[in-house]
Amino acid sequence: MLHALSVSKKLGNTFVLSNPTEILQALVGLKDVKILRLERRGPDVELVIEREIGVVVCPRCRERARVKDRPVVSYVDLPVYASPMTLTWKKHRLRCVNVDCPVTTWMVEDHRIAAKGCLLTTRAAKWATNQVGQGRTVSEVADELNCDWHTVNDAVLTYGEALLAADKKRRNQTTAIGLDETNFVKLGTHLHASYATTVADVQNHQIIEILPTRRYEDVAAWVNRQPASWKERIAYGALDMSPAYAAVYSVALPQAAQVVDPYHVIALANRSLDAVRRRVQVEQLGHRGRRDDPLYRARRVLLLGEEKLDESGSRRLQSLLELGDPNAEVALAYRVKERLRDFYRTFDPVHARAMLDELKGHCLRREMPPEIQKLGRTIRDWFDKICNFHLARISNGPTEALNNLIKRIKRIGFGFRNFQNYRIRALLYAGKPNWRVLDSIVVR
Ligand SMILES: [Zn+2]
Repeated sequence: MLHALSVSKKLGNTFVLSNPTEILQALVGLKDVKILRLERRGPDVELVIEREIGVVVCPRCRERARVKDRPVVSYVDLPVYASPMTLTWKKHRLRCVNVDCPVTTWMVEDHRIAAKGCLLTTRAAKWATNQVGQGRTVSEVADELNCDWHTVNDAVLTYGEALLAADKKRRNQTTAIGLDETNFVKLGTHLHASYATTVADVQNHQIIEILPTRRYEDVAAWVNRQPASWKERIAYGALDMSPAYAAVYSVALPQAAQVVDPYHVIALANRSLDAVRRRVQVEQLGHRGRRDDPLYRARRVLLLGEEKLDESGSRRLQSLLELGDPNAEVALAYRVKERLRDFYRTFDPVHARAMLDELKGHCLRREMPPEIQKLGRTIRDWFDKICNFHLARISNGPTEALNNLIKRIKRIGFGFRNFQNYRIRALLYAGKPNWRVLDSIVVR
């Protein structure tokens, strides 16, 4: 049967088993490992091995040990020819010959074959970790290995955690971080939303860490635990307009310039515009938007960038506003939103700051719609941090993209029971670990 077997599975990014005997050679290559037989049993393949042990002494009293028995333990191995493979290891249980020794029996383990307590072989566990890191679900990988979801998940958590801990360079290459909130649903007896904070490297577009909290104290404590060299290097901190995250930066990274993410500012202006439109609509017509109402018809066009409208689009918007917005309140809110977009398109920081200052004053005027005055107050409160965008030109945008990745993981990883599953999988997927490090990871 031996000649008929082949495997072409990636282990890590570097270890590709491709020719018929490589999968066996990979084991034979391990000193002291002997292949006893290889059998096809229906659709499955079983590989039986043993590890030669030579002379072993008791770990406690150093007296010579004797073999007590040979328990046979089965592990899930890499599939061969798309057939699930079982690796059966004829182990040695040893016994100390010294009657006075408190050590009675122990099993000979070998982390190169399988970590203690792991039901996957080491090579299968590393392969599974890599697969999940590429975005496959634990169930898909478990199906391919023909084993239980928990078996794969446990291995991915163990090896994923070890990889992230060993890959120290991963988080040490940035001068700009972003803090962003994500909510995820805890599955349990009650469904409830729970909040996490994503710490991102917004220069290299990767997740640094995910914390099971959005509280100021917890996030600041995490920052404080980081090495001084890491903290000193952070020159910019991106954030949404969250007072908690602003406080984290002020207290734990006081030298970092805080930069409000443009996406959140524009989104806020769009929400203000939409609120004005809905209010005017109700005032004009006495009901919420219906399909034929002019303002309802304009709702999407209003949120588009002005430059995206061609001439007929602009004319259409103008005529819808003439019909539905007699006091030009919606038009005013639209201009404010567009002016804010101009602010972000401006390159000169001094000019941009003057623009925002003027816009703020404009929004805060008493005759402005209340929704726009409220926007003006937010701009006033975050003024310097909004302007800082023109110093750093960084945004939480990459973090947003990472959060979308996380949302995808949450969707495909239906059944997240706890935060640790979520964290490891998101970091493997969006944290850009160096997969080559996995090859040298030892889990005993
Ligand atoms: Zn002993």
